[in-house]
Amino acid sequence: TLRAGVLAVQGDVSEHADAIERVATAHGETAEVVEIREAGVVPDCDALLMPGGESTTISRLVHREGIDREIAAHVEAGKPVLATCAGLIVAASDAHDDRVETLNVLDVSVERNAFGRQKDSFEAPLSVTGLDDPFPAVFIRAPVIDYVGDDVEVLATWDDRPVAVRDGPVVGTSFHPELTEDPRIHDLAFFDSVET
Ligand code: GLN
Repeated sequence: TLRAGVLAVQGDVSEHADAIERVATAHGETAEVVEIREAGVVPDCDALLMPGGESTTISRLVHREGIDREIAAHVEAGKPVLATCAGLIVAASDAHDDRVETLNVLDVSVERNAFGRQKDSFEAPLSVTGLDDPFPAVFIRAPVIDYVGDDVEVLATWDDRPVAVRDGPVVGTSFHPELTEDPRIHDLAFFDSVET
């Protein structure tokens, strides 16, 4: 059984839970999805999901509850994390914004709400390293990744900018992979089915 924790202080949880259950089933595994709102849950998780939402709120609650140190230890232990949109912002090393105290578990810096300024949201067919067919990526007031550390692999770009990255066990996307029926990003993050 894959025990996957979804950070549930704020943001979308059920769509991510569905995607996790589907990829686990595809691998002949079962998944147990638990919601994380307080300290003490992360240490029992095999994998973590940091969903979208509002990064200022998420980062504040994660620090207030002491979940920040637990996430750092999870990454230190090499266990997988998928961080999407606001989750990517919180996981990053810098968000150029005093209201977001980032966790620094993914060596990128981001600019909030910088993608698709004209249109708040859009969907794009994205070529992703390791996936045979384009991934339907939904961007909603998405962050732009404006710096990528030396050890970070860029998995996808849109408009010449990185939108999916991997830093060891942590995969970050500026888009929302849970909003389409396609669980391949969850698969890539949690089961590492991708050969590179
Ligand atoms: N705009 C949000 C933020 O900066 C992120 C958007 C999202 O998660 N859809 O926190």
